[in-house]
Amino acid sequence: MKCEICKEKIQETFLEKIKGTFFKKKAICSNCQRKYTKEEILEKI
Ligand SMILES: [Zn+2]
Repeated sequence: MKCEICKEKIQETFLEKIKGTFFKKKAICSNCQRKYTKEEILEKI
């Protein structure tokens, strides 16, 4: 699973939940969530 914005690999927990979130079914890492607003993320993906 890779972040749609920075292309960094997103770590997955043992429960197979990613440390990030999904916008429009695309994975966004927690770093990018902190860095960008929701509107900016939606523009980038
Ligand atoms: Zn990212």
